[in-house]
Amino acid sequence: MPFEGVLGQSRPRNILKNALLNNKVAHAYLFFGETSVGRKPMALELAKTLNCTASIQGDNCGICLSCNKIDSGIHPDIYILEPETSTSSTRLGTIKIEALRELQKKLAYLPYEGKCKVAIIDSAETMNSQASNSFLKILEEPPPNTLFILIASNPHQLLPTLVSRCQAIRFMPLSPSDTRRILIRNRDKGEFEANDDEIEIRAMRAGGRIDQAMDPSLLEICERREELIELIAGAHLSRMDVFIRWSKSVAKQSVDVQALLSEMARLLRDITLLRSCGRSATITNADLRPQLISLAEKKKLNSLVKMFKATLVAQKDLDANYNAQLSLENLWIEFCAA
Ligand SMILES: [Zn+2]
Repeated sequence: MPFEGVLGQSRPRNILKNALLNNKVAHAYLFFGETSVGRKPMALELAKTLNCTASIQGDNCGICLSCNKIDSGIHPDIYILEPETSTSSTRLGTIKIEALRELQKKLAYLPYEGKCKVAIIDSAETMNSQASNSFLKILEEPPPNTLFILIASNPHQLLPTLVSRCQAIRFMPLSPSDTRRILIRNRDKGEFEANDDEIEIRAMRAGGRIDQAMDPSLLEICERREELIELIAGAHLSRMDVFIRWSKSVAKQSVDVQALLSEMARLLRDITLLRSCGRSATITNADLRPQLISLAEKKKLNSLVKMFKATLVAQKDLDANYNAQLSLENLWIEFCAA
């Protein structure tokens, strides 16, 4: 899968291809941006191109032995460090100094069979301070024929001295159309099952992240939108009892309240856009457009903005471990007074 196989991310791809064509590949890169938007696949394409035995025009062939080995994760000159307890959905572990020491030993040798050794540090922000300092020493005296690629969500969580030694390349969230293309490709490969309508909804609502787009719970929350729209429509001080009952029942269910509030914020954002920019505004919940337009026409713009802000406050409260039922009740008071 040459560079074009990493769908979306044309800017990072062009920067890297230009560097390859002009023989100006940096010795260390920092790929930063949200998770699951193509940072690691791009790092692997760069590693493949540097080691490809039939590279063409700053790209790899995707079929030679070296490309195949990197695709299969068995190339002896490609090292990938990840947090110890990482899984595809959680990255809660840390990268420890022992892993860095091990890497340093391996990098001391010449490439076994490739042209260039590549060390990819995934979730680099999970390096603890000892590991970060150890890595900084490696970067200060880099071994020859070695490329380092750090992958991080937030570069501010890395040592500034590390960041300053890397060429930073930002990866933006994927557009809905790129998300759709990736979901269709994953479906064609048998990695994912969904009909076209479902793919459309997922692409629009994933926030540009493939892990979110493929999350089974994404559609569960989606099915509760009608219920949330009713609450927005019925917000009035004379109907507080309805909201209190709803808060109590939600607090008792095993529902992800934070996800419900994110959904509420998305709906309010859409309604506000329809109210201020007109019926054809670009919205996330395009499948509910007629309902949302009708609601937008009944609500005042400043009430919608107040409700949106109150939802964001409730989300922050929940992040700070406030009681879910109390946070929701506070939210409804704001809604009804808006
Ligand atoms: Zn190749």
